[in-house]
Amino acid sequence: MTFYRETGAIISPQKNILHLVDGSAGLTVFPPELLWKLHKTSPGIVYTLSHVHPPGMKELSEEDRTTLLAQGLAMYPFSCRIATISECEGHFHEVTYFLKLESKEEWLIRKGKRQWEIIEESDVIHKDPEDEPEWYGWILLQRSYGDEKEFKKVN
Ligand SMILES: [Zn+2]
Repeated sequence: MTFYRETGAIISPQKNILHLVDGSAGLTVFPPELLWKLHKTSPGIVYTLSHVHPPGMKELSEEDRTTLLAQGLAMYPFSCRIATISECEGHFHEVTYFLKLESKEEWLIRKGKRQWEIIEESDVIHKDPEDEPEWYGWILLQRSYGDEKEFKKVN
């Protein structure tokens, strides 16, 4: 099984794919104009920015952290999440991080720079497409690892 490139998707609260994003070998850029448009049209619909990372890379990259902060600020008071999907020891881990942002009220009283931190919300293991065909991640993995035939054969 060969990893070719990152693939991303904008995911709704119901865990449906709203939009697929092509990444490169080591980076996924979620289009900010589209995120803003989706958020303006239907606040709360942008639930998670999910993407496939190279094997073993469950952590967020510096770019991911920057994106999460920017989107979290733009979509406040709705929270923003980024998830990584990566292969670790034969399984796929979907690790979701969310931005914990200081409330506007607290921030205005305290003044200074707005406080924020990134919190790991969950680490879910996915093993077999047949057990959970509804998981959106298989579609992203197929796009990152090659065609469907190759993906099924190896798994
Ligand atoms: Zn990333």
